[in-house]
Amino acid sequence: MNKTDVIVIGAGAAGLMCAATAGLRGRKVVLMDHSEKLAEKIRISGGGRCNFTNLNVRPECYLSNNPHFVKSALKQFTQFDFMALLDKHGLTYHEKTLGQLFCDQNSQGIIEMLKAEVNLGDVIWRMGTEVIAVAQVEGQFQVTTATEVWLSDALVIATGGLSIPQIGATAFGYEVAKQFGLNLQPLAAALVPLTFQAEDLWAELAGVALENVVVSCENTSFRESILLTHKGLSGPAILQISSFWQAGKTLEIDLIPDLDLADFLRTANRDALLSTVLADVLPKRFVGVWLAKYGEIRPLKQYSSKELQRLESELHQWHIKPSGSLGYKKAEVTRGGVDTDQLLSKSMMVREIPGLYFIGEVVDVTGWLGGYNFQWAWSSGYVAGMNI
Ligand SMILES: Cc1cc2nc3c(=O)[nH]c(=O)nc-3n(C[C@H](O)[C@H](O)[C@H](O)COP(=O)(O)OP(=O)(O)OC[C@H]3O[C@@H](n4cnc5c(N)ncnc54)[C@H](O)[C@@H]3O)c2cc1C
Repeated sequence: MNKTDVIVIGAGAAGLMCAATAGLRGRKVVLMDHSEKLAEKIRISGGGRCNFTNLNVRPECYLSNNPHFVKSALKQFTQFDFMALLDKHGLTYHEKTLGQLFCDQNSQGIIEMLKAEVNLGDVIWRMGTEVIAVAQVEGQFQVTTATEVWLSDALVIATGGLSIPQIGATAFGYEVAKQFGLNLQPLAAALVPLTFQAEDLWAELAGVALENVVVSCENTSFRESILLTHKGLSGPAILQISSFWQAGKTLEIDLIPDLDLADFLRTANRDALLSTVLADVLPKRFVGVWLAKYGEIRPLKQYSSKELQRLESELHQWHIKPSGSLGYKKAEVTRGGVDTDQLLSKSMMVREIPGLYFIGEVVDVTGWLGGYNFQWAWSSGYVAGMNI
């Protein structure tokens, strides 16, 4: 039987941050992960360049059953604190768009930085380690692996969500939560492309991107680009809205949010084909297919005002009902998770079970696309690390 102060299960974004923070405070930490490879999700993030945080991090950018829960951790460890860590390690970064920060040394730079911090804290690594059982024995936590049994005063669950099972995601964290009698908010794939019924699909438009459109679901809207695919819709605005979408709900898409179409057409060449006129404001391939709905494409002057009104209202309010999503295989995150009502927001400890902590994506906190999910991992990992 081995004894330690802290066991962290899951050496991803949150687990690395937590282990480093606790180790640097002098706590004896064991960091376990079933994967041989370190932090695979960081590695593949942001197309390999890791959108590690966002300049505009604020509580409103997170979904949770308790929208106030994130406030304490985000305040205790901010995006600027993480940027300072990069500075300390000589890493550089740049803003791409909408406050999204990417590491110039790619994801690997972030992984090496976190690994170095963990090593500074003298953390004991246990990569490639399958956890067979977790139990609470006389106020301590007992973690049994294939080859060892560890006892600790504190146990941190940082095993993330269900997305991308092919690189090691499991339901482990949710199972441990259930084992300890904790409630889970319903799980769903989020930040994920949406699919449509065959009759709603426009396969001939696959690959067409529409910039600067507004996608809404009930009271939530995002203005970014969308991408038409063979299976449905993707692109940043769709990924964002997918976190708010539930089966049966309809999306409304404004394809030309800044354009008064009637005004625009009034000054256009009335002898030109309508497709040629509209190609100034929308991709040509898209316009051709869209206008085919109204019959043969004619010169602008041959369209009745009723037809043009219909066109305008459909371009501003395209209603489309997704049939589902591409699921966890393609989702960036899992919505839902360990109910925050059971956790202390200052430390991430389970209220009723001193010494047990849940951090990162396994918790019912889901960030917007754009670096918000990593910031949650850093912030929640840090506050747990400071309190264990
Ligand atoms: C393709 C993709 C791109 C992304 N890009 C970004 C981005 O650019 N910016 C951003 O903010 N977010 C991004 N995300 C989301 C971000 O990666 C996650 O929100 C974040 O990694 C969550 O951190 P975590 O530590 O909670 O979980 P993870 O980073 O997933 O770490 C969990 C760890 O637990 C381990 N584990 C799982 N099950 C077990 C088990 N049974 N036993 C032992 N260990 C286990 C895993 O191997 C893993 O190492 C992206 C996600 C994906 C899938």
